[in-house]
Parts: sequence; C-alpha cells; structure tokens
Amino acid sequence: MIANLIGGKWSQVSGRESLPVFNPASGEVIEQVPLSGAPEVGAAVEAAVKAYAHWAASAIGERAQLMFRYKALLEANAEELAAIITRHHGKTLDEARGEVRRGIEVVDFACGAPTLLQGRTLRGVSRDVDQDYYRFPVGVVAGITPFNFPVMIPLWMFPLAVMAGNTFVLKPSERTPLGAVKLAELFLEAGFPEGVLNLVHGARETVDALLSNPAISAVSFVGSEPVARYVYEQAARHGKRVQAAGGAKNHILVMPDADLSLAVPAILNSAFGNAGERCLAGSVALAIKGAGKALLERLTAETRKLRVGPGDQAGTDIGPLIRDEHRKRVVEHIERGVREGARAIVDGRDNTYLSRAGFFLGPTILDQVTPEMAAAREEIFGPVLSVAQADGLRDAIAQVNRVDYGNMATIFTSSGKSAREFREQIEAGMVGVNVGVAQPFAFYPFSGWKSSFYGDLHIHGTDGVDFYTRKKVVVSRW
Ligand code: NAD
Repeated sequence: MIANLIGGKWSQVSGRESLPVFNPASGEVIEQVPLSGAPEVGAAVEAAVKAYAHWAASAIGERAQLMFRYKALLEANAEELAAIITRHHGKTLDEARGEVRRGIEVVDFACGAPTLLQGRTLRGVSRDVDQDYYRFPVGVVAGITPFNFPVMIPLWMFPLAVMAGNTFVLKPSERTPLGAVKLAELFLEAGFPEGVLNLVHGARETVDALLSNPAISAVSFVGSEPVARYVYEQAARHGKRVQAAGGAKNHILVMPDADLSLAVPAILNSAFGNAGERCLAGSVALAIKGAGKALLERLTAETRKLRVGPGDQAGTDIGPLIRDEHRKRVVEHIERGVREGARAIVDGRDNTYLSRAGFFLGPTILDQVTPEMAAAREEIFGPVLSVAQADGLRDAIAQVNRVDYGNMATIFTSSGKSAREFREQIEAGMVGVNVGVAQPFAFYPFSGWKSSFYGDLHIHGTDGVDFYTRKKVVVSRW
C-alpha cells in the first residue's frame, strides 16, 4: 500500500479502503492506493501549518539553493521518473521523457524566485511619501492533480508555491499516484525541511476534506471540467483562492494554403500522442474549403502506419488507455459518432487491440463530422480524430467558438493575414500557428478560457507567481 507523506514521515493509512493501481499495458494490479479522509488530510494540513511558520521566514537564497539541488536530483532521476510514468500511466517512454522534461522546466522557472518575487517601489507619491509593495506567501496551498501527467502537473504547482514561501499538500490522481511519490522522495533528499511538501492519497473524500479545511488558503486544481467547476465553487465558498484548469476540445484548422508535410505529422502527434489523453490534444481537424481531400488522404494513410503497443516497447507510437472503463467510454464516443452520421474511416475498435491484455485501443478517424455532433463538441480523451469541413476561415472560427471549451486552437496556413485573423478572433487561451500542440513554456501561463478554466490567475508563469503570493503595500512618510 502506498504511504502518505506527512511532516517529513511516510505514514501508512490504516482502516480505510484502497483502490488498485494498474499497469495499463498488461492489466495487472501493481499497487494499492489508500483512500484517505478527513483525519489524514487534517494531519497533513497540520504538518504544513507547522512548517509554514519557519519556511515563510526563511531566506529566499536558501530556498533557491534547495530548489537547485532538487532540480539536479530530478535530472539525475529523469529516466526513472519516465519509467514510473510509463509503468502506471501507459504512455510511451519517449512521451514520458518529454513529460519529465516539461516538468523540470517549471522547476527551472521556480529557481528564478529571487527575481520573480521582487516587489516594486515608487518614491515621492506625495511630499516625503514613498510607496512599496512586497510579496508575501499565502499560507498552506493544496494541489489536486489529474491522471494524465503524473509528474509534470504536480511540478506545475508545488515548486513555485514553496519558492514563494508557502507550504504544500499534494493530492495526486488515485489512478496514477506513483509519480508524486518519487517527486516527494527526491524533495526530501534535496533537503527541504519536513512539512514543506506533504502528500495525501485518495479521491473525492480526500478532495472534499482539503476544500473544507480552514487552514488551507489556496487551491490549485487540474482535471476534468465538472470537477474543476466543483472545486472552484467549493473552495471559493470556503474563502480560498482557486485556480482550476478543466477539460478541452481543441480544433486544428487547416487552410488550403497550409504545408501538409508540416500539418499532417503535427495533427497526428496532437491527436494521438499520449493516446489522446491530454488536454491539449487537437481532436478535430477542421479542413477549410479546398484543403479537405488531400488532408484526409494523408491523415488516413499515416494513421494506418501507427503502432499500438506497450509504452516501454521500442517502436510503439500509441500506448494503452488508463483503464478498461475509460476505453469503453471512448468506444461509446466512436459508436455515437457513427450513429450521428460520421464515417469511421480508420476504426480503432479492431479486435487485435481489444482482445489483448491491457487497455489498448487503436487510433480512429471519424470523417464527415459536423458542428452539432458530440464528436465536434465533447472531450473524448482517447485516440480519436474528428475531421470536419468549413466553408472559409470565418466559418471555421465560428464553429470553434461555438464549443463550450476554450483551451487550445491552432491553424496551419502560409498566410500571415489568416494567422492574424485567427489569433484575433479565436476564443481560446492557447493559440498555435503552424504547431500541433500550443503548450506554453513554464515562464508563460497555461491559459485556458471558457469552461477550460475557472479562476483568474492561471497556472505557472507570472500568473503562478501572483497566485502563490499576496501583496502588501506600504505607504511611508519620512
Ligand atoms: P478528474 O477530474 O477525474 O480528476 C482530477 C482530480 O480530481 C483527481 O485528483 C481526482 O481524485 C479528483 N476528483 C475526481 N472526481 C472528483 C469529485 N467528484 N470530487 C472531487 N474530486 C474529484 O480528471 P482526470 O480524469 O484525472 O484527468 C483528465 C481530465 O483532466 C481531462 O478532462 C483533461 O482535459 C483534464 N486536464 C486538464 C488540463 C488543463 O491544464 N486544462 C491538464 C491536464 C488534464
């Protein structure tokens, strides 16, 4: 059974139910994760409160030294972290290595805290009066993370939060809890004081105990849309600061002047990378008048070449899905698409995948998808690419803007004018031009719009610095 980390000690949870953790490539149970409740959460929060008193007053240079040491340990253990991700999430080792790399980039950013946390001064606001603002930590922060990036998403949160002087309670996904365990072990090894980072495992009850705990000042959440909304509402009701990133339905527009040799591999990577289980998956290719035929032919031919298999097997392009129930839901989405009139021109429901041990599903292309179909509007979170048509750029933008989500949208074109019109009119917070996955680097915010994000300050970048600090303005006359 996996242990919680409370006040620097690994502590087994007793008398509670647990859930199995699977290797999705074999279907085997590899661990058990405890479902912690209010007592375990209470102990973790208490440890974080206790640590806060000293940590918030520690010298910023000392914190930075610890974070540099942590970064070095993450680099030294990058291969092991990637193996852990693949073993219980299923993604390919290359994808897992990429995940670790993107996570470490946020640690790099957090190492710059002595610059990032600087305040501002304006002398002479009136005669002999100066005004300054200082950044202070907010207190104890809770982080609640999804299954699909078990290392990167925790690293979006706690390194920056603790560098700002906060202490942290992390609740990783109960489906992929092992990445956070390794991250916490390395955190202790780097020499951070006990209680600065605490780890509690569990699911809904654990989250509810965090959201209602009065000693928690702020909540960072990443997960599905309904839960993001719930966390936002509940945490705000309890007077906490919240950033809650939710689900997505991302469109990739292809103009007739697009370079298809660039667009096709980028679309395939965007739609099928991470087996489609990512919030930046481009899951609708929207061909703009004239682009459709050649695009579809090339997407179809290239998709048929993709190899589905265990993530740790050389040559695998698409690993398994996270659970059998999730695979069933993705299959239901494909069936619904077909019922609503789409054509499955590549069909991942092939028995060679479905009959294997493990939660495999082949890549699917649904053609002739129209804006009212669920396949154009709802998050599927699997290896399913919808292909749809638009009469022109304006029509394509209107189709995208009708969707409730607003995480990412990208365009492939060789026209600066079209790219600019797209950038100006599209209702999405992460916009790509000739890229398949428009993921911001750590020094920019991860900026979902509409139902893809609840809150004001986004995750990482300078938004992250603002989220994890509160300002004190001092007016002085001398
Ligand atoms: P999820 O919402 O099921 O779970 C996320 C977290 O919330 C987990 O820690 C889980 O234990 C907890 N949780 C689940 N149900 C809960 C409930 N009813 N009450 C309280 N807590 C609950 O999400 P998931 O399936 O793990 O992750 C996939 C989803 O996350 C997708 O929708 C994806 O788009 C989204 N996601 C978004 C981003 C982003 O930055 N916008 C990034 C990654 C993933």
